[in-house]
Amino acid sequence: MVTPTCLPTVLRRCHTCASGRFRANGKFRVNANHKLIDVWLLALCAACGATAKLTVVERAHVRSVRPGLLDRLHANDAVLAAELLQDPVLRRRNRIALDWDGAWRLDTGGTDHPGHEAIDVSVRFAAPVPVRPVRLIAEGCGLSRAGVERLVADGSLVSAVRLSGRLSGDFTFTLKR
Ligand SMILES: [Zn+2]
Repeated sequence: MVTPTCLPTVLRRCHTCASGRFRANGKFRVNANHKLIDVWLLALCAACGATAKLTVVERAHVRSVRPGLLDRLHANDAVLAAELLQDPVLRRRNRIALDWDGAWRLDTGGTDHPGHEAIDVSVRFAAPVPVRPVRLIAEGCGLSRAGVERLVADGSLVSAVRLSGRLSGDFTFTLKR
């Protein structure tokens, strides 16, 4: 199971310095003006600390905000921040991309069957975290990335999906011994 361990890095150009990396820390800014409400998710430039405001809600009617959401916003709910960053609509609107390097973990269930010729491993994603399967298999199986690439090259590691590039959905692979 691929599980996020912290918020991903937000990729966005900083207007103050030349950096392109921001850290969201789960803090929100809420501005209610009469009946209208604006909500931003805050992200700090990794280089200079400048704050970027990512639009979550823009001039919406206060009553249109779903119950419970305001409480979570005021509590600076990091889980909510993670959910919002996974929303492609929010990413497009704010022209940001995400870098998940170092922000996920692979939990292995110990599905090794000693004595078997081959093991089938299914990888499930708790969140659509884009990861390189080669790296994921290397971590999960305790191999080097070069070792995994060698197994792919000699046909000892096969999958219905392309193992080069990135994946963010469930897949299975078979490791032959
Ligand atoms: Zn900056």
